Amino acid sequence: MPSTRALIHAPWSASKVSTALRCPRLFHFKYIQKIKEPEVMPEARIGKAIHKALEQVLMGTPEPEATSAVRAELPSEIEQMRYDNLAIGIPAFVTRIGQFRRRRRVARQLVEYSLAVREDLTTTQFYSGDAYFRGVLDLGYLFEDDSLALVDHKTGARIPGSSIVDQLEGYAVLAASAFRHVKRVWLGIHWIAERAVEWSAPVRPEEVIDRLVPDLLDNIEAAALAVDDGPRPNPGSWCDRCSYRGICPASNEIRYEPVEWYEDDED
Ligand code: SF4
Repeated sequence: MPSTRALIHAPWSASKVSTALRCPRLFHFKYIQKIKEPEVMPEARIGKAIHKALEQVLMGTPEPEATSAVRAELPSEIEQMRYDNLAIGIPAFVTRIGQFRRRRRVARQLVEYSLAVREDLTTTQFYSGDAYFRGVLDLGYLFEDDSLALVDHKTGARIPGSSIVDQLEGYAVLAASAFRHVKRVWLGIHWIAERAVEWSAPVRPEEVIDRLVPDLLDNIEAAALAVDDGPRPNPGSWCDRCSYRGICPASNEIRYEPVEWYEDDED
């Protein structure tokens, strides 16, 4: 059973859990006070644009049309150039996906597919009041042999040594609850900048139940505990990419440390 403090902040998502663990003050701004982001970081805007272009291309919009329409929505030439550097890998990714689909018997493609579970891990609607954990799958393929491949697009740098399963465990739990006939799940990360897709070994339903579900529930409890003491700031290098840094006193202290003058310095 989840604790009361975990239930208070439901529904949880992978990003909500990581925000709580990284900086309770940011969690407070975003999920408790629900303050609209005072500034949107270029990285976030470019990441969203690439996700949108990929989504449209995978849904059938011709690639040049999708990428140029999304590009035009970016506010500056510099962001458009950074977007171009990432978007250059989209045709190759779509070709690989096409080859992969021809080799395997795909029963269903899932693009930007929302899933949610209640606290007892039964499925519910994404916006339902009883949702406990939820997420949106970037891309998934259900195969006729009852296996499932999930792909998460990432625009950031690859984190050396991190496990794909750890990063995608929440999606595996959601998918295993929604598609109970599935016998194995492959988890993949599409590193857009590196034009590479990294796959895990197949995860079986027993592993989801024995390992991924307890890990996910423990992470949610740890996140709820981290924010239980109130909006404690946890400043660090990540403040440079925080959309709330302009209104966060802790960030201002880090970025504008007062210069101390000593008489000797003036010689
Ligand atoms: S600026 Fe830093 S300390 Fe302040 S809310 Fe953002 S991440 Fe937390």
